[in-house]
This record gives sequence, C-alpha cells and structure tokens, in this order.
Amino acid sequence: MNRDGGTIKFMREILVLFFTFLLTGISQVFAYDLVLPREKKSIVNTNYAFFVGKAKNTEVITINDEKIYVATNGAFAHSVKLKEGENRIVVKSNFNTQIYKVYKNASVTVVKPEFEELEPKNYVVKKDNTPLRSTPIDYGMNRISHLFKDTVLILDGQQGEFYRVKLAKGKYGWIMKTAVEEADCDTFRPEFVGMNSETFKNASIHTIEFTGNLPYTTEENDREIIFKIYNPFVSDNSVYTVNIKKPEKYFYTTDLCRGKYTFKLNHLPENITVTVDAGHGGSEKGAVGCLGDKEKDINLQIAVELKEILTSLGINVVMTRECDANVSLEDRVKTARDNCTNIFVSVHLNSIPDIKMDIHKNRGTSVYYYNPNSKQLAKSVLESVNSTVGTRNDGVRTASFAVIRPTDYVGILVETAYMTNPLDSVMYKSDSFAKNAAQGIADGILKYIGN
Ligand SMILES: [Zn+2]
Repeated sequence: MNRDGGTIKFMREILVLFFTFLLTGISQVFAYDLVLPREKKSIVNTNYAFFVGKAKNTEVITINDEKIYVATNGAFAHSVKLKEGENRIVVKSNFNTQIYKVYKNASVTVVKPEFEELEPKNYVVKKDNTPLRSTPIDYGMNRISHLFKDTVLILDGQQGEFYRVKLAKGKYGWIMKTAVEEADCDTFRPEFVGMNSETFKNASIHTIEFTGNLPYTTEENDREIIFKIYNPFVSDNSVYTVNIKKPEKYFYTTDLCRGKYTFKLNHLPENITVTVDAGHGGSEKGAVGCLGDKEKDINLQIAVELKEILTSLGINVVMTRECDANVSLEDRVKTARDNCTNIFVSVHLNSIPDIKMDIHKNRGTSVYYYNPNSKQLAKSVLESVNSTVGTRNDGVRTASFAVIRPTDYVGILVETAYMTNPLDSVMYKSDSFAKNAAQGIADGILKYIGN
C-alpha cells in the first residue's frame, strides 16, 4: 500500500515535471529575446538604458508598464531614462517577465587639467603621421596636420597628456607627450633653400625646401589649399605659405624628405579606382541589430553588391575584405594607397551610441566625411541611397574616422541604416536591401564623377 501510494505520487511528480518542462519550453519558443542589455545587472554612466530585441509572434511587450512598438518582423527598441542609483526595469510580455537592474553612477565632473608654461625646448617627432592638434584633446576634428618622423618642434607648455607646440607668434598646436622625445641639440636653425611650383594637365607639384625638418599645417578655403611651414627657430614671424588653387574634384599628398616638403595636388582622373571597404569583420562584429544580426555581415553583402555594380560599369574596384576576416584600419588604408585609390567608400550600419538619446530618433542613412574634398561625394551618395532604399535622410556629417582621414583620395563612410531601429531593421532585413543600398552608393559616385 505504502509502496503503491509512493509509486502514484512519484508518477504524479513526473507528470508535473513533464508539464512544467513543456510549458517552459513553450514560453521560451514564444517569448522575446533581448539583444541589449547583455546582462541582467549592469552599472552604467549613461542617462538612458537601451532595450533592444525581438518579440515572437503575437507578443505584446511592455517595459515598466509602457507598451512598446514592435515592428512587423518583431524588432523592438526602447530607451529608459535612468535615475541615479538603482533602476529596476521590468520587461514583460504575455509569455515572459524579466527584471533588469541598471545601476547609474553619480555623474562625475571631469577635472580639466591646468595649462602650465615650460621652458622652451626642442623635441623630435618619433613617428610619421603624428597628429598635430588645435586643442589638447585626442579626438574629434581638431587635427591641423599630420607631422612626419624627425620633425623638430619647440615645446613651451603642457596640459594633461599634451605638450604645446610653438609655431609662430600667437599660433600654437598640441601634440601627445608620448609622440615626441627630447632633441639632442638646441642649436637647430634651419635655413630656407628654395621653393618651386609646376603645373600639369591633371596635377600640380609644389616644393619648399629647408635645411631641416620643420612643422607644417594645412588649411582650406573655398578656392585654395594653404600649406604653412613654420620656422620658430629663426623668428616668431617666420611662416612660409604655399597656396594651391583647388579644382572641383581633387585629392592631394604631402611628403617630407630631408627638409623638403612636396605637395602634390591631383585632379580626379577620368578612369577612377574605387576602394570598397566593408566595415568590421572577423571577431569585430560591429553593431548588433534588434534581431541579433551582425553589422559586419550586412556590410559585406552591400560591399560585394557594390563591387559588382561598379565593375559592370567598367570602374576598377579594390576590396579591403571579401570574406569574414579581421582587417586593421591601417591595412584598409594601406590597401587603398597601394592600389592608387581615387575614391574610398567605407560601408557600415549605424547603432545607438551610448549617449543621452531617445532610441527612436536615430534612424535612416547618414554619410560621413573628414576632408573638405569629400563633402560633395558624401552629399551625392546620401541623396541617392535615400532614394534607392527609402531610408530617412539622417544627414551629411564630419567625423574623424581613420579610413577617411587620408587626403590621398576622396573618402566617405556610409551608415546605410540604424541596426537598433525597428523600422530600419525591416528595411535592412529585406532581400533587396544590400542591392538597393549598393545601387544608391554607385549612383551617388556616378553623379559625383559626372557620368
Ligand atoms: Zn560600423
């Protein structure tokens, strides 16, 4: 009797277990997946926490009792404004409830380092392509030149991680302390040797020579590129200027060899070479979308389509990657340079930066450029991608991305759509997206080169 009762109870427990298992299974099949946040508990310094994910079937999602918009493919995204300290955020559907705890740190006021004057001293730049900046901040659009190895500088102050570089009377630049070392001698006084300009049909070459490696800056206005070479070792007012008239479409190179600067300005040739750069790759996934898809894969699909379209038009195309591989930013630029690239197009999809923004406000296509010579191409490509894909115009912007900084080519970075936007996700998940985005970029290039 005892034994039988035990058996029945045991059977019943098995059945209960079985149904519990079945129900859990069902709720897992139907319940939403969250791509962000990655952890149930997190500590942040941001004003918003982002909830990005995919709902299944007829799921109705609420976050802290607010009903969330779910796109036709299940994609949803929501930002929750955080208060200081612990925020308890309940993500609920008819199948599942999950509780997230996001701890917002008290906002930290960053103490700006003080400027301190130093006894002027000669220093030497350690590496080529060292940024000289207009402010002591190591990011943004504040580069005034890229100095060459063995350029000699007078440093007369410091602030935080930077030394102040004396260029001329009232004119200063800033360089990272780690980028320079003390010069052997303080008797460096380079002399002017000569300058020369030669104009060809599609290029002009300008040289200016000194007996030592002096610092330079580049400026541009609507008509000219202005190179300035500074000789503060001789006097406060010793500035040499090379003005080069700009054609409509151009790129240029700057070289320094034993005190001699060579500036070469090229008109965009008739037969162009385009480098197509699929952003990220390999272990660098890039952004992750509401549906869990990876930016690197979509970038590559667009890049491959773009290559096909441009090639069919007889344009020479170079790819920085053609499979799912890690490629460094330096190698992407090197590939472009090694192949005498005239136009560089980096293909990306955007995502919400971890700032103080409402997630739904960020959607559409934006195109970035760094040098003024690339603004027109950026505008042209933005317009045609908006029209072929139907994305919202998210604007032409400047940003200091390594792949579009070189002046040797016309370079843009296209953010075709936002991976974290549910409406955009319906677009980029459609079968025609990669082809249409590529067609838009190609149309923009053709319009720019004037075909
Ligand atoms: Zn990207």
